[in-house]
Amino acid sequence: MTKSRQIIDLTLALGARNYNPLPIVISRAEGVWVEDPEGSRYMDMLSSYSALNFGHRHPAIVSSLKEQADKVTLTSRAFHNEPLAELYEQLARLTSKNMFVPMNTGAEAVETAVKAARRWAYDIKKIPDGQAEIIVCEGNFHGRTVTITSFSSEEAYKRGFGPFTPGFKTVPYGDVRALEEAITPATAAFLVEPIQGEAGIVVPPDGYLREAAAICKRSNVLLMADEIQTGFGRTGRIFCSDWEDVVPDVYILGKALGGGVYPVSAVAADAGVLGVFEPGSHGSTFGGNPLACAVASAALRVLEEEGLAERSLSLGSYMKEALERLQSPLIREIRGKGLFIGIELHDRARPYCERLMEAGLLCKETHENTIRLAPPLTVTKEQLDWALERLECVLTG
Ligand code: PLP
Repeated sequence: MTKSRQIIDLTLALGARNYNPLPIVISRAEGVWVEDPEGSRYMDMLSSYSALNFGHRHPAIVSSLKEQADKVTLTSRAFHNEPLAELYEQLARLTSKNMFVPMNTGAEAVETAVKAARRWAYDIKKIPDGQAEIIVCEGNFHGRTVTITSFSSEEAYKRGFGPFTPGFKTVPYGDVRALEEAITPATAAFLVEPIQGEAGIVVPPDGYLREAAAICKRSNVLLMADEIQTGFGRTGRIFCSDWEDVVPDVYILGKALGGGVYPVSAVAADAGVLGVFEPGSHGSTFGGNPLACAVASAALRVLEEEGLAERSLSLGSYMKEALERLQSPLIREIRGKGLFIGIELHDRARPYCERLMEAGLLCKETHENTIRLAPPLTVTKEQLDWALERLECVLTG
């Protein structure tokens, strides 16, 4: 029995079945390449759902991790630490916001934003206590906590997990009129993904975010952009909101912020919003720890120094155009921005992901019919050509 088989069997025997991974074990990785215990090499076209925008083990990020590990790794927020202050400065430059809350996972950052919006609604907007409402979109994915699951429109994410948290209202994604009609004097915020990743790389109509931002502004409603999957260059801009020249009231950040080596998330807004938190109102033991912040700072430096948003823009267009030239009756639609591309099939995507894996390309289906392509933004054109050959082979038979 191979080492891979042993590991998979052990994992399946003891682990809860809340994931359905492809049958491959990754034991080493560098850049866009990963290797199984038997020494077979594959190209990573998923990038851990965009957490690996910088590729596996980017040397500058790993070196920051090691350097910080030799100084101090955890202080808790009972005391101050240097890397957190440095990260705040970098986030301020990148987002043009002036207040931040550091957390660990994406879901925690979304929870933080939801709490901030509710507090803001009561303390600043003066919505009567207990009545604040947050508008969300059909098809959303913002994480897996009970509250976040409460406003999911996916039965599979919700079944058996009630009772749910009230205070959320759902509108169709991409429909500004529906948003406008849903707003009432009790609306605190509109929470939206600039492109819906988990829903299958769903790109809203041009102008959607810009109009939504204008509606929110007119109605004194906070626009909260969940850029956890779309941020940090993935869509060809630093933030996907940049495509529409929108600066949301609240940025929700995660995934790539951790440089692919550590869970780091954050909420970025102005003091008029995040100033609602006083000591004791919110926090996290590990949020803002020095190791996390050193890694995040290094990741943000790499993003800028290597021009990764620009790379994503040009290589994304190259890849999308090449995919659009594929003559395959299987393909229903190709959509996306930058190196964030979905290939929707007329068929179930899983068997094709399995065939791509056998051909050396690691992709994962999202929803039944869509193959998500999200390589590290450090990928080269030659590496994309290698991937395109395999995609062509599998998708055109
Ligand atoms: N928000 C979006 C848009 C996401 O894509 C995800 C994860 O896929 C999350 C939130 C949740 O992040 P995490 O899995 O780190 O909790």
